[in-house]
Order: sequence, then structure tokens, then C-alpha cells
Amino acid sequence: MIVDYHMHLRDAQERIDHTVEGVERFVETAAARRVDEIGFTEHVYYFAQTREIWQVPYDVERCVYDIEPYCDAVLEAKRRGFPVKLGLEVDYVGPRQARLAELLEPYPWDFLLGSVHHVDGLAIDQEPGIWADSTVEEVWRRYFTALAELAASGFVDVLAHPDLPKIFGRRPAEPEAFYPDLRGVALEISTAGLRKPVGELYPDPALLEARPPITLASDAHAPALVAEDFDRALELARQAGYETVTVFDGRRPRQEQLG
Ligand SMILES: [Zn+2]
Ligand SMILES: [Zn+2]
Repeated sequence: MIVDYHMHLRDAQERIDHTVEGVERFVETAAARRVDEIGFTEHVYYFAQTREIWQVPYDVERCVYDIEPYCDAVLEAKRRGFPVKLGLEVDYVGPRQARLAELLEPYPWDFLLGSVHHVDGLAIDQEPGIWADSTVEEVWRRYFTALAELAASGFVDVLAHPDLPKIFGRRPAEPEAFYPDLRGVALEISTAGLRKPVGELYPDPALLEARPPITLASDAHAPALVAEDFDRALELARQAGYETVTVFDGRRPRQEQLG
């Protein structure tokens, strides 16, 4: 079984397209690339139902879409027999995490991705962001402290792009010293890092040494990018000793044979 559990429901120009037709375009690429199941994970900050959570201008500006058409598009595609799952990419928001979870509670998620894009309102994956006045060591320490908190919260099922702070290619002398214990959640093996300045898969193989459950992820923001570079993701999974991949239904994980 091959899954791609991280993608954003957009059109070819990466504009929001929360429709069944939009879902079908992703399903077509998945079928062509022999992916058995795909999971949609739109950024949570796009949805007006979560408006009270957001403080950073980047999030506030985007927080104008209704969550219902998004859920309905994926659920309708599911009813039509397409191999799709309903997910969301949920940001780390520190003390507001429990309130965010409460706002998301009414919807029938198959899984929730957890992402740390900001720490204390400062972006990890944009410049200048947190990089303006933190050393590389400080960025890594602050990021992984937040990631560990999110993992332990129980509010998310999978950690997205787990070692995101390597995005610009800057890393401390001993990155392993910053990796926390991330038990209780799955980690995604993401090919998105190959398309960033660092040019590597997320995560570093050292983060897979304790053999946490895994998913596979492209982080596609357009239909053509579903399962992009998955040969590389599968190679990393196999080298790390994995024989299974995690599949989710209604936030319940199970292991299926990988490949
Ligand atoms: Zn992300
Ligand atoms: Zn994403």
C-alpha cells in the first residue's frame, strides 16, 4: 500500500479549489502514479470557523473560507468511491491548541497533521521570521520544543515535515542533540524538502531510528505534484527498516504492508 497523506486542495495554479472536481484531479495523478489512497490536509488557518485563533497577519489574511465545502468535497468524493481521506494540516498555536481542537471537533477527520510553522509568532519556514534574531541553535531548540509539545498533546495524529528548520540548509553541528522523543504520533516522510533550498527529504534518518509509525507525503499544492519523488521517500523508508505504512480511518491508525 502506498499513501500520500499531505496535500492541499488547489487547482493547477495553486488557487483554493474546494470542489469534488478539484478532488478528482488529485485522484487522477494518484492513480497514474500507483498511489492507493490520498489524504487532503488543507491549512487550518484558511477556515473562518477558526478565526479567533489567528494572530499572525499571514494567517489572518487567509482566514476567509468556509470549512463546510472543503469537508463536503472530500466526503462526497469518498461516497463516490474515490480512495480519499479527510484531513487537515493543524498549526501549533501554543496555549490556544486546546481551543483550536475544540473548534475542529465537529468534523469527521480521518487524521490530523500537526505542523509547527510558527513559534511565538515567528515563522520557521519564511525569512526573516525567527531567523532574524535567533541563532541556528536557538531556532532548532525552540522548534523541537514546540514539536514535542504538539506530539504529546493528543490533538494531532501525524507530524508534518518533522525537521522543518533545516529548510534553508542551516543546521547546528549536532542536529541529533535537538531531536526530542516523539512517541504517540506518526511521522511523515515528506518529499517537499527536495523542492526547498535544503534539497533533502524530511525527516533526517536519525529521527526514524526509534521506528515511529510513518506516512508518506508530497505536500502537493497542485494536482500534478501528488506523490512527487515518492521513489526517494520509499527508498528512505526501506533503508530505515520499514515494512509497513500507517493508514487512518476516523483518527484510528492501523499498519498496512508498505509498497
Ligand atoms: Zn506545512
Ligand atoms: Zn502542507
